[in-house]
Amino acid sequence: MAVSTDLKEYQNLIGGELRAATGGTLTDSIDPSTGKAWARVPKSSKEDAVTAIEAAQKAFPAWKALSASERAACLRDAAEVIASNGGELAALETQDNGWVIRETTYGLIPVLQQVWLDAAGKATEANRGQTVPMSPTSLGYTLREPYGVVVGITPWNAPLFTFAIKAAYALAAGNTVVIKPSEQAAVSSLHLGHLLKDVFPEGVLNVICGPGSEIGDTLVSHPAVDKVSLTGSGGTASSIARATAGKPKPLIFELGGKSANVLFEDANIEKAVEAICTYSIFTGNSGQLCVGGSRILVHRSIIDEVSAGVKQFLQNPQLKQFGPTLDPTTTTGPIATKSQFEKIQSYIQLGLDEGAELVYGGRSGGTELLPDRSDLTDGYWIEPTLLKSETNSLRVCQEEIFGPVAVMIPFDTEEEAIALANDTEFGLAAGVWTADLSRAHRMVAALDAGNVWVNTYARVGVDLPFGGVKNSGFGTDSIEDYSREKACVIEM
Ligand code: NAD
Repeated sequence: MAVSTDLKEYQNLIGGELRAATGGTLTDSIDPSTGKAWARVPKSSKEDAVTAIEAAQKAFPAWKALSASERAACLRDAAEVIASNGGELAALETQDNGWVIRETTYGLIPVLQQVWLDAAGKATEANRGQTVPMSPTSLGYTLREPYGVVVGITPWNAPLFTFAIKAAYALAAGNTVVIKPSEQAAVSSLHLGHLLKDVFPEGVLNVICGPGSEIGDTLVSHPAVDKVSLTGSGGTASSIARATAGKPKPLIFELGGKSANVLFEDANIEKAVEAICTYSIFTGNSGQLCVGGSRILVHRSIIDEVSAGVKQFLQNPQLKQFGPTLDPTTTTGPIATKSQFEKIQSYIQLGLDEGAELVYGGRSGGTELLPDRSDLTDGYWIEPTLLKSETNSLRVCQEEIFGPVAVMIPFDTEEEAIALANDTEFGLAAGVWTADLSRAHRMVAALDAGNVWVNTYARVGVDLPFGGVKNSGFGTDSIEDYSREKACVIEM
């Protein structure tokens, strides 16, 4: 890819220093609202990856030896740094991946602070073991210990959030960390690395940007790496599993989904429609949300009402508005990358070719959707698109599209709704809308998903686990998963 001049250049954080990639190689980062380069990020080499791992390895013994309260103090400082630089971080994330500023400012930044503070509060618990009396003369106990060097690999749709949940909990438990953000949207993570440079002892936190296809294998298979956490696609998870097969190490995989949002006939339709159009699938980052409710299962008796409600909501310019992503009145951003933009366009066409009915949307491109904004013509805009299908077997109902595209599928009975919801290789999330409490509990128990929301959607919190089942992954970015238990018996 051509490299532009006159753009701000960002650097890796390795061993407590800001460093360019070997040979100074850089790649352009594209603002998806304009399609133009706006910053340059390091294109790190395998050699840089090894340097980052070695820095983390060197820093580990001293970081592990600190008391939990000393580690917690660093994490609280990190939360403070994020709070005082929140506006800048929000703007960088917005320009990098297109997630609108009103959501990065008021949604993302406060959550980041919460995560870093929560991890600080859990630092003591991370190392707390159990006392196990075994006989009058023998005492068993367990110690919880950090793994060592943790590599956290993050996606382009939520760089700062995934940085936080991996780094904060791993560091709290006494591990040292190498974060590798997606090369497609690395600016906010690199800038955060810069801001945190003096918060942690050198080498404790490292941030390195480079193509996963080139440096990923080195990062995950290096013998000094003790644990790997990926948030990303199933294809990348398979590559990591292959790369580490010869030298197995614990993995956390937070992967994709094809989540069902189930609307029963007694649902509060107005609230369910609002969720669909704002925080379930047609979101401020255009449905590029791992838990996106991309299959909307609707009781046949209310499907016309739901379709009409969604159409009315999406047509209202007061409620849904494309525009410059840094403008706080814009509610809907572009697709983060050109390749993802093209993939979503082809999925919409595929759905129509497969026989799905177009209920709303389907258009794409700046010329079509923002005719009065010549500055945004080349951005990767896609209209929220609602399809309808009688069957769950279409590819658009089975494959993760990862964009503002949902398929509505009718059902007649609760049993059918459960069967349809579970008829997918994924198991990340599900939503249920009903006024019947008994049915709500039955559905929560019956759905194959790591997260189920009733009469709401996408509600996550630091005190709840977050992870998937089936092909949506395993493990959680939590304090528990970043320490391991050692057993000891003392004979007296
Ligand atoms: P991706 O798998 O293409 O990339 C994720 C990261 O993996 C990037 O940093 C990339 O550089 C790196 N990578 C690529 N190849 C690699 C390799 N061979 N070895 C090691 N690392 C490699 O995913 P994406 O396109 O950036 O993100 C979208 C995907 O992420 C979707 O499937 C989405 O559902 C998923 N996601 C899941 C969650 C969750 O919590 N479950 C959250 C956000 C996104």
